Order: sequence, then structure tokens, then C-alpha cells
Amino acid sequence: MAVNTKAKKVAKTATKKVAAKPAAKKTASSARAAKGPKYVYTWGAGKADGDGTMKPLLGGKGANLAEMTRIGLPVPPGFTVTTEVCTYYYANKRTYPATLQAQMEAGVANMEKIMGTKFGATSGMPLLVAVRSGARDSMPGMMDTILNLGLNDQTVVALENTTNNPRFAWDCYRRFIQMYGDVVLGVQKREGEDHEPFETVIHAFKHERYHEDIEDSKLTADDQKELVKRFKDLVKERTGKVFPNDPWDQLRGAAGAVFGSWMNDRAIVYRRKYNIPSEWGTAVNVQAMVFGNTGENSGSGVAFTRNPANGTNEFYGEFLVNAQGEDVVAGVRTPEPVIKLKDVMPKSYAELLQVRKTLEKHFKDVQDIEFTIQEGKLFMLQTRNGKRTAAAALKFSIDMVKEKLIDWQTAVLRNPADQLEQLLAPIFDLAEVKKAKVIATGLPAGPGAATGRIYFNADRAVVAAEKGEKVLLVRVETSPEDLRGMIAAEGILTARGGVSSHAALVARQMGKVCVCGAAAVAIDYDKKTATIAGQTFGEGDYLSIDGTSGTVYAGQIKTAPSEIIAGLLDGDKAAQATEKFKSYAQLMKWCQQATRMSVRTNADTPEQTRNAIAFGAVGIGLTRTEHMFFEGDRIDAMREMILAETVEARKAALAKLLPFQRSDFLGIFKELKGYPATIRFLDPPLHEFLPHTKEQQMDLARKLGIAVEKIMARVHELHEFNPMLGFRGCRLGIRYPEITEMQARAVFEAAVEAKKAGVKANPEIMIPLVGFKKELDLQVEIVHATAKAVQSETKTKFSYAVGTMIEVPRGALTADEIAKTAEFFSFGTNDLTQTTLGMSRDDSGSFLPPYTEAEIVKKNPFATIDQTGVGQLMEIAIAKGRSTRPDIKLGICGEHGGDPDSVKFCHKAGLAYVSCSPYRVPVARLAAAQAAIEEARKAAASKAAPAKGKKK
Ligand code: PEP
Ligand code: MG
Repeated sequence: MAVNTKAKKVAKTATKKVAAKPAAKKTASSARAAKGPKYVYTWGAGKADGDGTMKPLLGGKGANLAEMTRIGLPVPPGFTVTTEVCTYYYANKRTYPATLQAQMEAGVANMEKIMGTKFGATSGMPLLVAVRSGARDSMPGMMDTILNLGLNDQTVVALENTTNNPRFAWDCYRRFIQMYGDVVLGVQKREGEDHEPFETVIHAFKHERYHEDIEDSKLTADDQKELVKRFKDLVKERTGKVFPNDPWDQLRGAAGAVFGSWMNDRAIVYRRKYNIPSEWGTAVNVQAMVFGNTGENSGSGVAFTRNPANGTNEFYGEFLVNAQGEDVVAGVRTPEPVIKLKDVMPKSYAELLQVRKTLEKHFKDVQDIEFTIQEGKLFMLQTRNGKRTAAAALKFSIDMVKEKLIDWQTAVLRNPADQLEQLLAPIFDLAEVKKAKVIATGLPAGPGAATGRIYFNADRAVVAAEKGEKVLLVRVETSPEDLRGMIAAEGILTARGGVSSHAALVARQMGKVCVCGAAAVAIDYDKKTATIAGQTFGEGDYLSIDGTSGTVYAGQIKTAPSEIIAGLLDGDKAAQATEKFKSYAQLMKWCQQATRMSVRTNADTPEQTRNAIAFGAVGIGLTRTEHMFFEGDRIDAMREMILAETVEARKAALAKLLPFQRSDFLGIFKELKGYPATIRFLDPPLHEFLPHTKEQQMDLARKLGIAVEKIMARVHELHEFNPMLGFRGCRLGIRYPEITEMQARAVFEAAVEAKKAGVKANPEIMIPLVGFKKELDLQVEIVHATAKAVQSETKTKFSYAVGTMIEVPRGALTADEIAKTAEFFSFGTNDLTQTTLGMSRDDSGSFLPPYTEAEIVKKNPFATIDQTGVGQLMEIAIAKGRSTRPDIKLGICGEHGGDPDSVKFCHKAGLAYVSCSPYRVPVARLAAAQAAIEEARKAAASKAAPAKGKKK
């Protein structure tokens, strides 16, 4: 049977072309100068208007289809409607530019010429097209695709007659109505329905005719015809409208739906999660259909040029014989591994291997491809950089340096800093897992170990997770609607679907543990149960899944740290010998080589300090001394100090605290082995230390031997409406200088003891919440006097520095004044954010989500620095601080110090270090190195640009 002879020619001519011609740098604006705005970019038969560099205009998919065409790969012809049209569409009440229709007609004519077919032909071979979205960054499964467009009651007959394959022709038509009905006409699941309405119709039909759930590929032409009829009835019933017959109406409707899908709920959720700005818009790609569903000699597949789950250099993916691409990713039929293609279609497999090589060599990165084989001919439908787990990203980057495909700086950039924490994620405790009962196995789709209570519906999973439960989302298969549930879950388990199913792709990208295609999991959505190996589990019961091996266990299993944690923190030799550990160590070595900023840690105990140093921290950027008062009985002495009514009584209570502080500092100095320690003096409002319930107050009264009324009175006295703006920070030390004195003494006595023990201490005393130079002066005076006293008492010299936090706007604005006294600044961006934005860091959760939703703030400002506001104050403080003390040491110790975007901002702002919690040290190191590499590359590029200009 011949589906389309010209299509074969396309494949042939295309594969002959090998070298890519340098792309003619066509931009929308240069084309505009010639004949008005260019909205449509065509490709096909070895030529393309666009190229791979034009992702902002053509979207990732369109740009890469053009690029693949240019490098001679067999790509069916098509055209891209640019992202500018999407912007126009939303700016002009969902209408199109006047010249678009004519340009699209020219695009269709180009396809017709290359394919030798005609759009809407009622005799001969009709041109059918696929309509796909394509944003600048790929958003897998988040937007909509329509295949087989151009079919109607007349063209389907032409297709049937030309191909002499009625089953195929009606299968295409049935699929088209289903997709178009769903995406464009909105025939979708209603409240309370667990299945798509079209699927419900198919299911009922199969049971009516065959009394079982046969595979779609077993449906006959007559079955498909009947389904077409029932589908059209369904469309009429649900929308009140007749299914559109005119191919051009269909095409316009489809393009509108793709643009419309840019603003659908799941696309918005996805963009928010990955910080993709809504103003980018999506392109629409219209491409000539080639068919994987013409029979046993055809098929469709998706593959990665390397394994995206663990990074192994193996061809990884799957295909289905006699199927269209959607079947593979939808997870409805479980596909075969791509290497099995070698047995069924050896020629196409060999060709595909060649394409794999060409793509990696050309794009210098792992590619995620879609292909179709139409009667033995291979066609490429898509390539993009493959999404990958952190483990895979690490292995790809190390391997590609060895293969000389990329340099080490690129390797550093290839590891997303915000994914690095995945590598530190826990695995199952080996001893526990041996005892656990394996109840099913599926495909290992997202590595790691997860244990949690199961939920069969995304919404219920979200609700449970919000209550603090660890949740596993268990579904027959997942669809993009489940995204919120997937985000909330620790792991995802599906009964159907392959390694590139939606569940798997999204889980890997989010670093979620995922097992899919576990066929033994029988889910009953109505009863809210899953029966696995004869055991029935209800919602709320525990399961555990291992996404590295694909195993499903009954019950809860303890998790254990990853090899990297075990190797670094426990010195585990076996863990250190693993490839993962060694690759991580190599990456960190490169980071070290590239970085300008150093990374310190926020640590309050010797153990935290030890961990952070193992992660590569080179000092402490913040010790919150108040955290040291919460342990054991110390809180009692602290309370005694607060309740003291005279200076003497307060001093007596402080004397009890002194030895605790001293020994804590000594422990920390010993762990630091000479690295600096920024020690922040008492900061929080005192009421935080006092008991608030009557019982607790009576208990304390008994312990201290005072009247409970006294305690109640003091609690009342210390009560503040807005304690974060109240009696805290240096204000405490100014009102009660003896507190500052005790803390300084503890630090210095510990330094002396450390010296005796052969360890050099390097304390940097930090005064919090300074807004006036005088505040700092008064505190510094006490610190210096105490240092002098301790030095003379102990006859020991030690060095130290005194500086301040910049965490209120007045401090930033008068930094030149403050820097006359402060030897260093550390930006306390937690407080600086709340005082700059006038938003409470504790209570803003109630309105921040709608703020991010409305894009008033791009990201949570307490997680990522608000660069335009808070960032500007930091820049002012840096410039002013340097104006009076050019060598002032600058750092940051707010939570932002472990956030990759904020770390990059700090690099640009010129800070010497960032400080973050111990487990985020690797992330900060990577982000700091990336910032340095990006800066160096930018500088090199701008140096090269004028040089080029001169030659001309
Ligand atoms: C800050 O305000 O950024 C800071 C580090 O101090 P804390 O979080 O303890 O107020
Ligand atoms: Mg603070």
C-alpha cells in the first residue's frame, strides 16, 4: 500500500543533505522591512526560513524543526506561526493580524508542493496536518496538540481510496474528532467524571461489540466509522454545534486553541513552577502529517539520545507499531523499548542510530526526539534538549567533557542549581528494604525513594499534603490535570504508561520519585482502593516506591541519605567509591575553579558547622545566638534573665548563660579550624522566650521561686502588636548592655580556650538590626571594652572584627555612615525584605500566592531577592559602604543566600560571600560558579563583538 509517494521522496532528499548552511539571520524585523511583518516561517525539503537560534520567535519546537531540516534530517514540511502572533492575539482581544491568513495560505501551498498532496482534496491524497504548540522552553504535555487535521466526511473517503486502507483512514478521522473535540471544542471531563467523555464512548462501544476492552489497534474500519458517528453525536450533544467540516475553519480553530492553551490552568501552573514569563507566548507549528498507523510496517516513538533518568549513554525510549505519536506518550498502550525496533524494523533502527549521533554532535547535548516510521521510512518530528534528573544531568555533563563534546565550564552550567538538591535526596534504608514486601514492579521512571499515604485523586492528594501528610499519588495513568497533585506528592505510581509517559516526564523534571506502568496495581476509583497482589489498600494507607528500580512495597519504609550525603557527612567509603559521588566531587572541583564568591553557612551548632564544611562551606556567615538558648535547661536561665528586676539580678542570670555560650562557641571554633565565624548577638523579641500559657507560667514560677503574677506582668509588659518591628535586635543590647557584654565575653573566652587547644578562632561579631550609626557605636564600644578586659585577664591576644547586619532600609541608606564603624556588612535580607516591602515574613503567606498568581511579584520575595526593590537597597548600601571603607567585607546571610537566582544577583552585586543553611551549600556553590562563568562568557562575547566590527 502506498500512502504517499512524495513523502518518501522528502525523506530521501532530506537525508542526502548533510552539511548545515550557516543560518541566514532572518528576524521578524528584517523581514518586516521588506514586506510587512513576517508571521509565518516555513521549512521543508532541506530549506528553512528559520534556524535553531530563533527560539524566542519560533518557539523551541519550530526553531529546532527548522534546524533539523537545515542539517539534512528527514523532517516533514511545515510552517511556524510566530510567538509575536500570540502576543498580538492577547493584546487585541483574541484576534489575528490581517496579513496572517495569506501567509498561512502560502505556508500550506509550500507543504502541498513538497508533499504532492492538497489540503481539503476530495479526490487524490489529501494533505493532513498536525497542529502543535511550541513555547520558547518546552512545556511537556502542558499545551495541546491536534493531529490529522484536514479530515472531513469527504476527505476521509479520498484518504481511504488513495491508500486503499479504510481502517487507517477512519482511525485517523476518529482520532481527529476526538482531539479536536477535546482541545478546540472543549468536550472534556466534567465535575465528578473520572474519564474523558470520548474514552467513555470508546469503552462502552468495545464492551457492546466485543464484551471486553480490546486494544484500539484491533478496531476495524467499521468500528472506527461507528465511533466517528458517535463522537460527532457527542460533540453535538455537549456543545450544541456540528463538528466543523471545512479544513480552513478547522485550521484556524486549532491555531486559536493553541494560543488559547497558553493561558489554560495547567500551562499557568507549569509556568509558575518553572518561572516562564507569560509574555513569551507560544508559537503554533503546522506540519504535514506522516503516518505511523498505516499498518505493521509503520510506527511512532519517542526517545532520548541517552538515559534521562540515570544518565547512562544508551539509546533510551520506546515505540509502538501501528500507532500515532500520541499513543506512545498518552500511556494508554504500554510501548516497547526502542532498542527492540532493531528486530522489527532493522533499517529504520540503523537510520535512527545515525540520527542520534548527528543530533548529539550538532546540538552538543542530549536530545529528546519524536519520530514516525511510515511504511519503513523514518521521519523526525521533534528534537529538543532532553529534560533530565539531577543525577542524569551530572553524568551527562561529566561524560560529555570526557568525550570532548563540551568544556568543563559548560559542564558546570549544564547542572541546574535548583535541581542539585535531588542528588542529596534520601534513598531507602537498605536493611529496612530487605524486610519489606515487594507487591508490584513497574518501570523506574523517576529515581529516588518515597514513602507516603496513598491518594487516587490529585485534589485529595493536595488537601492531604497541605495538612502535612507525606503523600503518594496513585493513578491508572496521569494527565496534565494531575499536575497539582504531582507537585504535592512525594512520589507518583501509575498502573499504565511507559517511561516517557506524562507521569514519568513531569516527575523526573520535578525530581519526584516515580514508578509507572505497574500493571499489577488494580485501581477502583469509585471504591477508592487499589488491589495489589491480593492485598487491598485504601486512601490513607501507606505504600513505598523505589523509582530507581521500579519496585512497589507495602507499608512504610525508612529512608536513608544518598551516597553523596553518606560519603560527605558520614565518610562512608563505599559511598565515596560510587560513580555518583565521584562525579559530584568533580563538579564541585570545577565550581571551586570557577567561583569568585565563597559560600559560608548559617549554623548554630558544632554538628551543623561540621556538615556545612563537608559540603564545602568556608566559614560561618551567621550564628543565631538565641538558638543556643533553647536547648535543655538553658531556657530557664534565659527566662530568669528576662524576669530580672535589677541589673545585678540580670547579671547573675547572664552569668549562668555565659558558660553555655562559651562552650558552644568553642565547639564551633574547633569545627571551623580557622575559618571565620560571624556571630550575631541576641536578636529576637524577648517575649518569644517567655511561656504564654497559664500552666507553663505556673511551672516557671515554681522553678524560679517567684510569684506567677510577676511572670504574667512581665509577659504583659513585653507584649507587642508587631514584635518584628519592636523591641528586638540591637535595641535589646542598648537597653540591656550587660547582654552584649556577656555575649562578647563568651565569644572572647572561647577564642582564648580555642587558642590554648591549638585552634585559631576567627570571630566576627555582628550587631543586628542597625539603622543608626550611633546604635552600632554604642554596641561596638562594649565589645571592644570586653575584648580588652578578657585579653588582660587571660594575658592572651586574639583578633576579631565587629560589623553589622544591613536589614533595615535606614541602615542601607546611611551605609556610608555606618561603614565608618562597621568592618563588615552582612545583608539580612529576611528582615530587609519585610521592612522594605512592608510585608511580614511570618504572615504574608495569606496573600502572597495570589500575588505570584497575578505576577505582582514574580517569585516569593522571601525566597528569591526582589532585585528591583530590596536589591536596589543592597546596591546602594554596597556603594555607600565602600565610599567610606573601600575594603569593607560584604556578605549575605538571609535565606536568599541558598537560592540560585539570588546567589547570582549577589555575585553581580559584588558580594564576597553568601551564607546559607548547610544542605544548601552545594546549591549555592554551584550557583556562584555558574554566575562567574556566565559573567566571563558575557565579557568574552562583548570583547569579541567590537573586534569583529573593526575587521569589517
Ligand atoms: C535576616 O533578617 O535576613 C537574618 C538573617 O536574620 P534573622 O532571619 O535571624 O532575622
Ligand atoms: Mg534579621
